[in-house]
Amino acid sequence: MNLPLSFEFFPPKTPEGAAKLRVARQALYAHKPEFCSVTFGAGGSTQDGTFGTVKEILDEGVAAACHFSCVGATKATVRQQLATLRAMGVKRLVALRGDLPSGYGAGGEFHYASDLVAFIREETGAAFHIEVAAYPEIHPQARSADADLQAFVKKVKAGADSAITQYFFNPDAYFRFVDDAQALGVDLPIVPGIMPIISSTQLMRFSDACGAEIPRWIRLRLQGFGDDTASIKSFGLDVITGLCEQLYAAGVPGIHFYTMNQAAATTEIIGRLQQRA
Ligand code: FAD
Repeated sequence: MNLPLSFEFFPPKTPEGAAKLRVARQALYAHKPEFCSVTFGAGGSTQDGTFGTVKEILDEGVAAACHFSCVGATKATVRQQLATLRAMGVKRLVALRGDLPSGYGAGGEFHYASDLVAFIREETGAAFHIEVAAYPEIHPQARSADADLQAFVKKVKAGADSAITQYFFNPDAYFRFVDDAQALGVDLPIVPGIMPIISSTQLMRFSDACGAEIPRWIRLRLQGFGDDTASIKSFGLDVITGLCEQLYAAGVPGIHFYTMNQAAATTEIIGRLQQRA
């Protein structure tokens, strides 16, 4: 299987978490990722952890993408953060609006990711490869499916180079989204984001929050396994490998794995894909 791969991590909160992540990264580097990305807590809450993890990845000789969210931020702080990232040698950003926890007023000088993309381009020219987020199953706050697609096109036209999708389990949603975006003149790579199924409670929690639909048959099968983690993992590997096979057969430009800082499931899925390719 000759497909560009990328792996997403979140900044660990403890020294033990950081040590485990180092081990997971080394295992995943065997698959020669195009880049590894690190999430960024909205409002800059994880800035030190994010930048620190990005630096570790760069020091390990691997290209790193820093997620960067703008909700609540001012132009002055963003300018300063961009300068820090450039000085660190970061060449790739995932530019996002982000979500502030409820109770925080948004404030700030950016309303949408498209404002951030335009600002990064104005300030730094072509210094960064800019990724943006895409939602094949529609962003949960979108006024309508069409408004969400238009918003995606707007941030692409503001200067994005490529896109990564929210995870999904229904490949038709992805194919449809790509067709619709291309019909509106979008010709950049839209890379599917893939979430390995590691724990069913965690998956249900994330999916409810981000608007990714868990098909009824998957939800019911997961519920039926109860606490039987071995069966959940085995079922999850079959489902996600099958999804990746369909995407690969359709000629996707790459696969981005939401690793949840764990190497095992992602490694197993890639291994199975390689055997079957
Ligand atoms: P936007 O593209 O700005 O869209 C947000 C909403 O506003 C959508 O409903 C859209 O339809 C609407 N909209 C956009 N422009 C307009 C406009 N001009 N007029 C009216 N409506 C508009 N979150 C984090 O906090 N940290 C991370 O590191 C992180 N990484 C992510 C990585 C990926 C690949 C993905 C898919 C998501 C990630 N998220 C992350 C989650 C993301 O921050 C949330 O989904 C957030 O709610 C939207 O961010 P966005 O950049 O997609 O926003």
